[in-house]
Amino acid sequence: MNPLGVHALVWVGDWSEASARYAIESTRQVGFDLIEVPILDPSTVDAAMTRRLLQDNGLGAACSLGLDDATDVSSEDPAVVARGRDRLAAAVEVAHGIGASHLCGVLYSKLGKYPRPMSPAGRQHVVESMTWLAKQASDAGLSLALEVVNRYETNVVNTVADMLALIDDTGAAIGVHLDSYHVNIEENGYVEPVRLAGSRLGYVHVGESHRGYLGSGTIDFDTFLGAVRDSGFTGPVTFESFSSAVVHPDLSNTLAVWRNLWEDSLDLATHARAFMAERLGSD
Ligand code: MN
Repeated sequence: MNPLGVHALVWVGDWSEASARYAIESTRQVGFDLIEVPILDPSTVDAAMTRRLLQDNGLGAACSLGLDDATDVSSEDPAVVARGRDRLAAAVEVAHGIGASHLCGVLYSKLGKYPRPMSPAGRQHVVESMTWLAKQASDAGLSLALEVVNRYETNVVNTVADMLALIDDTGAAIGVHLDSYHVNIEENGYVEPVRLAGSRLGYVHVGESHRGYLGSGTIDFDTFLGAVRDSGFTGPVTFESFSSAVVHPDLSNTLAVWRNLWEDSLDLATHARAFMAERLGSD
């Protein structure tokens, strides 16, 4: 039985107290176990307020982020890497303050398209920074998982195999965060990446090929979620979907969310929870 989650962008584009309350209460109403809160700029997230709302609703949480040009730990520039570590330290503090169980996402790279391949010096900065981050997360009681994303969102790694090699180089206990949307673009199929990650699978995103309603795109979810179910993975499986109907000031542009794929968040989320539970055998 996996805890089932939903990304906050299904509900809201900001994290004011009113928005947080609406997102958290809606998540509980649909019957999810956790909400994933994006903390791209941790300084804008009120951890105490969020923790209280989560407790009031008996809900768990995960926190996720991607870095930007100014904080990219895969940069060759040590000053940029240092700013990246400051950003990641703030993210660990906020995730811990919220009471989140997991810290995940593209914590090792700028989230966005690069005009050139990563340099060897950049990769070394990633390895050093993720070794450091693993210690910070462990000290804060957070499970750390690095998301494997497609070529238009990072140049560091785009496949599970390359992510495992990167994690091996850190020597740290870091999980793999797998996302069906990215698997669809970069991997050979839906079973092999789940099997490759094996016991190191740490977090799962469930997203359609166009990031809209599950089952309305081209992803073979019977196979993907069947592989997750059969793997024995017991961690969170979180629905991730984006539409121009709910806009985050940074993330929506970074992820190229230009289309209106849905308007009714409640219907979308209710459908997604049943869709995932049916295939994971969680209901
Ligand atoms: Mn994802």
